[in-house]
Amino acid sequence: MSYSGVINKYLEYLPFTEGVRPVTLLEGNTPLIEADNLRDELKAPCKIFLKFEGANPTGSFKDRGMTVAITEAVHRNAEAVICASTGNTSASAAAYAAKAGLQAFVILPKGKIAVGKLAQALIYGAKVIEIDGNFDDALRIVREIGEKTNVVIVNSINPFRIEGQKTASFEILETLGSSPTHHSLPVGNAGNITAYWKGYKEWASKKHSSLPKMLGFQAEGSAPIFHGKIIEHPETVATAIRIGNPASWKLAVQALDESKGQINIVTDSEILEAQRVIARTEGIFCEPASASSVAGLRNLLNKRYFTGKDVVVCTLTGNGLKDPDTASRGITPPLTAAPSLSEVLNLMNLN
Ligand SMILES: *Cc1c(COP(=O)(O)O)cnc(C)c1O
Repeated sequence: MSYSGVINKYLEYLPFTEGVRPVTLLEGNTPLIEADNLRDELKAPCKIFLKFEGANPTGSFKDRGMTVAITEAVHRNAEAVICASTGNTSASAAAYAAKAGLQAFVILPKGKIAVGKLAQALIYGAKVIEIDGNFDDALRIVREIGEKTNVVIVNSINPFRIEGQKTASFEILETLGSSPTHHSLPVGNAGNITAYWKGYKEWASKKHSSLPKMLGFQAEGSAPIFHGKIIEHPETVATAIRIGNPASWKLAVQALDESKGQINIVTDSEILEAQRVIARTEGIFCEPASASSVAGLRNLLNKRYFTGKDVVVCTLTGNGLKDPDTASRGITPPLTAAPSLSEVLNLMNLN
């Protein structure tokens, strides 16, 4: 059977009955890439796999949850959906709402959204409202609108989002044939780490697979879970995880505790360095937030946390093309030459 999206593929694990009509852009089924070059570069004793969620239809893992949330919203005869977003949720909500013929409203922190993500929300036809505030302010407003109106909230506080996102764990389990020993991922609102852990546990209870340790990484200036307190003014170059009061805080702590994993911080420069290393060694361009999974792995490798028996999966949550500005700042600009063979050859510096 040809691939028809995460709802059809994993229907038995989702809160739908047979006959549901999925709103799908054929999300999921993303590559799990064995990163041998990265392993050599980092001198890692363990195996490293990269789950490249930037290969989803709108370029981030949000599509897995959005197909489920929008399908449910249509089932409930919703007229419109709304989300607060650091960028990717709005892009995904706008695309799936377009496919479903629903109006999407998007509340964004002004000036803190990567250009590609804003362009996506607009071209998919969402009504975009920027506020002079941060993500946490936007989510507070969205929660109130959800209480006062019939507009359906499609942030990860909507449990259907988590249901969809857990399917990434299923794909990893199917591809590897067993659970990895560790799973590393960036943490913003903490919905994704919650979803992966739910997925691993559900599979384990049905198929008796083992469970990984969950490793979460927050940016140094936006690390409420790590510090155990709300951060009023979160800052980081990794805008997708620039969140001071995570919606799924408690569930994430539970996932970390139950799995005997840990949460740690990575600096912005470690994040940007990891982004370049992943691109240069593996040919994968992920966005800054995504690279924190590898930046964090690198820090743990330096502490000799892993052994040769370990298998680590890092989720690369989104596509680097969404945020070309940040990527271009840290890299060598192109060389320039007159349109002359000798000048070009000269610059190529072959011998
Ligand atoms: C949403 C997002 C995150 C953070 O995921 P949470 O579920 O909020 O923890 C990380 N990276 C990217 C690219 C994202 O879009």
